[in-house]
Amino acid sequence: NPFARARYLLSAHTPRQLPPTSLKEVAFAGRSNAGKSSALNAICQQNALARVSKTPGRTQQLVFFDMPQHPNIHLVDLPGYGYAKVPKDMQAHWQAFIHQYFQTREQLSGLVVVMDIRHPLREYDLQMLSYAVENDLPAHCLLTKADKLSRGAAGNTLQAVRSELKRTFGDTVSVQVFSGESKQGVDEARSVLGGWLGI
Ligand code: GDP
Repeated sequence: NPFARARYLLSAHTPRQLPPTSLKEVAFAGRSNAGKSSALNAICQQNALARVSKTPGRTQQLVFFDMPQHPNIHLVDLPGYGYAKVPKDMQAHWQAFIHQYFQTREQLSGLVVVMDIRHPLREYDLQMLSYAVENDLPAHCLLTKADKLSRGAAGNTLQAVRSELKRTFGDTVSVQVFSGESKQGVDEARSVLGGWLGI
């Protein structure tokens, strides 16, 4: 697993704090509580790399991880979105920051959007995917918490989401079933990210 041994590097609260490197990076986005931290932990084969939180929406920062055995790559955990209790002006601030991040961050090599398989393709998910597509970046959706559905129901959702993505974005956005809990789909996710990053 090329993502094992990923470790915390730094947190950026403002655009000026983004590390001025030319290293390639992959960003993880998702609604608060979708299961993004658990997905990152599963992909990196760690228990506590990204914080798994019961109080969604509190961490408003971009968290960078590096990998000692791949010194040319960063993983980036974007702030969770869609949490109703975040004040409006803070939401606007973050929307502007993330938009700017997508438009200016040349080292960005791909976007992973983590969605609860029971609530896929909500408003902000589509917005993140649009940012990626507008900037010619590949995007990959993880339909996580698949362990909460039967195999058949998960398969049906996968097909429905895949058609919707194709209709909206063409062929640039891919999707898979995932579970941070059962680890279903972890190898597939690693191989998509590895493909973007050349590892
Ligand atoms: P984040 O806010 O998107 O980072 O979400 P977390 O990873 O913190 O997960 C939110 C909640 O969903 C936690 O209670 C997790 O234990 C739970 N969770 C995350 N992934 C899964 C999964 O794949 N299956 C199940 N059953 N629960 C999950």
